[in-house]
Amino acid sequence: MFIHTCEICGNEFESRSNRAKYCENCRDKAQVLRNKAYMEKKKSGTSITIGSEQICPICGETYTVTAGSQKCCKDCQKKQESKRKISANSRYTKENYDSVIFYVPKGKRDALKKYAQSKNLSLNKLIQTALEEYTKNHG
Ligand SMILES: [Zn+2]
Ligand SMILES: [Zn+2]
Repeated sequence: MFIHTCEICGNEFESRSNRAKYCENCRDKAQVLRNKAYMEKKKSGTSITIGSEQICPICGETYTVTAGSQKCCKDCQKKQESKRKISANSRYTKENYDSVIFYVPKGKRDALKKYAQSKNLSLNKLIQTALEEYTKNHG
């Protein structure tokens, strides 16, 4: 028989094996701890490591991870961000503006756009300004 000191509780115990690490009371606990360590290892294995190569779930290209939160390649990330920005913008516009659809004769739209550009206005701003001036002058 060999005398060991249990790595968990520190009590001395006897074992037929010369490599035993835990007393009989702690053997179950040791198994639990091992399982826990295994689970943690497994978890860290599935989380994305910075600098590792991943396949982008959107476009299928491989990319190098530069941040732990990165879930797709840079190009797709940019696209998604701008999509998010656009939808936030359009939400803002929807909440704060009413839209009026109006028609211009064919070909006039570009001319109007150019005219607005030359005045450093957006087409929308130009129409609004025009309306304001019209109502000012015509009551
Ligand atoms: Zn023990
Ligand atoms: Zn991608």
